[in-house]
Amino acid sequence: MRPDILNPLFAETETLPGVGSRVAKLFAKLAGNKLIDLCWLLPSNVIDRRYRPKLQQAEPGHVATLKVTVAAHRPGANARHPYRIDCHDETGELELVFFHAREDYLKRILPIGETRLVSGNLDSFHGRLQMAHPDFILPPEEQARLPLVEAIYPLTAGLKPRVAANAIREAVQRAPDLPEWQDPAYLQRQGWTAWKASLQKAHHPENRENLSPLAPERSRLAYDELLSNQLALGIIRLNQKKLAGIGRKAPGHLAERAVSTLPFSLTHSQQVALGEIRADLADESRMLRLLQGDVGSGKTLVALLAMLDVVECGYQAALMAPTEILARQHYKTIQPLADAVGISTVILTGRDKGKARAALLEQLENGEAQLVIGTHALFQETIKFHSLGMAVIDEQHRFGVHQRLSLAGKGKAIDTLVMTATPIPRTLLLTSYGDMESSRLTEKPPGRQTVDTRTLPLERLPEVVQAVGRALSRGARVYWLCPLVEESETSDLAAAEQRFETLEQAFPGKVGLVHGRMKAAEKDEVMLAFSEGRLLVLVATTVIEVGVDVPEATVMVIEHAERFGLAQLHQLRGRVGRGSGKSTCLLLYQAPLGEVASERLRVLRESDDGFHIAEEDLKLRGSGEILGTRQSGFPEFRLADPAAHADLLMAARDDASLILQRDPQLESERGKALRVLLYLFERDSAVRYLRSG
Ligand code: ADP
Ligand code: MG
Repeated sequence: MRPDILNPLFAETETLPGVGSRVAKLFAKLAGNKLIDLCWLLPSNVIDRRYRPKLQQAEPGHVATLKVTVAAHRPGANARHPYRIDCHDETGELELVFFHAREDYLKRILPIGETRLVSGNLDSFHGRLQMAHPDFILPPEEQARLPLVEAIYPLTAGLKPRVAANAIREAVQRAPDLPEWQDPAYLQRQGWTAWKASLQKAHHPENRENLSPLAPERSRLAYDELLSNQLALGIIRLNQKKLAGIGRKAPGHLAERAVSTLPFSLTHSQQVALGEIRADLADESRMLRLLQGDVGSGKTLVALLAMLDVVECGYQAALMAPTEILARQHYKTIQPLADAVGISTVILTGRDKGKARAALLEQLENGEAQLVIGTHALFQETIKFHSLGMAVIDEQHRFGVHQRLSLAGKGKAIDTLVMTATPIPRTLLLTSYGDMESSRLTEKPPGRQTVDTRTLPLERLPEVVQAVGRALSRGARVYWLCPLVEESETSDLAAAEQRFETLEQAFPGKVGLVHGRMKAAEKDEVMLAFSEGRLLVLVATTVIEVGVDVPEATVMVIEHAERFGLAQLHQLRGRVGRGSGKSTCLLLYQAPLGEVASERLRVLRESDDGFHIAEEDLKLRGSGEILGTRQSGFPEFRLADPAAHADLLMAARDDASLILQRDPQLESERGKALRVLLYLFERDSAVRYLRSG
């Protein structure tokens, strides 16, 4: 149960004055529907209105606050002309300019002969000082209402800045004082203040330096979040360790026989990784290991060999894929190998219904099925295994999945291996998985081609279509990706459909389209046609649909490459260059590209090493581009930025492990405050592992 002291922060934003259901919805989209979500929304800019010159000295190009007397109103000749108001002080003149003005309103707030304070962007036009649409117009006696230093928030379309700022300010004001969960000595060393004071300060920046993630108040808040993250992961991990494991040491004959049927031998990386996994399996405690490697680096094979060990020990093993298509693909690779060594493999997906499904469930329960491959959803249901010993979770490119790790805590002494095709830099690994063991496949199987990667502005689309035509005439198959962005799913889907139409016109009968709104069966049919060569161009909207192996595909076109993360682009590119043909990846971007965006595309053009790309990506993210952490690929953070706060992350990890060593149930005074911290950052699921206190 969340402590009462936090209740004010978890009230709905609609309880704030000025926030109705419309504004609440916009806030929900931007940050969340609770006051705490608004508190976490920190200013992205600051406007300093303290520049208050006389008109004669006033320099255009700044935000200025000016005290002027209104001389004359000059309405525009017609609706297209602006409404002008002449003003002056004792030293010079200023023209206020309004477009689409309402005369009665302007007459009321700027009466002729009166003095007013106006604050806004000062310009000069034909040598005359101008201010268009001042941000503030106030009588001098109301000067107190003018925020001399104003925080600007990152906003979403439709949300009025002033309305948002007021609501956020009110939310911050309602924040209670909370018990201190940080070590006082550490706070002092860092020069940090208490939580509430830090929150307030973070919302009242005075200059650009205060906006830096490294400003003391922002660092404090980020550290709180990092500590909550590391504590939560630590608690879950401690809990898993407590659950007894089983040593599963196999002679390895099954795996050996499986390898001997292959036309190739394992790479050195694969051998090392398999060795590490085997050591974990043989150990009495539970395995919780990450297997990282680029798409095509041979993870599935390593996982299969480990599963065969587990089967050899008399247990079942399961592999869960994020989608049905991927589950089928794993089945296609694994089943023949398992069959060759006499192991029965089944596949279970949402499509199996009725009798067929019942029969499969029966095989799992009586142990007839030794290996099972399926989708995640299925394993969340109550499916009974005869003796499940190992779960392999194929995460593909998904981050932030630590909650799934707790799956292993549900059953018997299950050993868990998480496969990910997203090479994860160490810092990120720490935040998504905690101190989890990891094995890396750093080499590619021999014979892989590097993919010729090029970047082009979208305007050159017609050339790209021609190039695709030439590739098709040489027998190539082509992926064509149009990304979906969440906010405008419908219009983006329309864009993909339109692209499909264009390509279909250019290459009649050869183009297929898959997107997330299609039924699985429809999708599979298109995919199948593409993999069998009945369709030669596959237009797709999301990454996941392209998770299928088609060695004949040698061209990957990605529209709006600037919208994808580097890791994603790298993975997509990994879909080509799998066969013997020379492969090309064309990254089409919307010009003009920002500095960071073009740097990212450069990294991709120049490197083919997923681990290198991931590290570069993290560096670029840390290089000052102001992005919400939500967009930046750290979905578990609102305030912390593991790129900018790498040192704090390491400190939080050490701090968390020390805390849990001394007070594993968080029962001391500080422990109790730390529970509040966990709830504050909504790590409720971790608190549930603790004794109620
Ligand atoms: P991942 O799961 O990492 O995407 P896979 O295990 O699916 O990679 O392997 C991709 C392809 O490479 C498969 O066709 C697989 O048979 C093949 N492969 C795996 N290991 C090797 C190896 N050591 N040498 C040659 N080919 C390999
Ligand atoms: Mg694979």
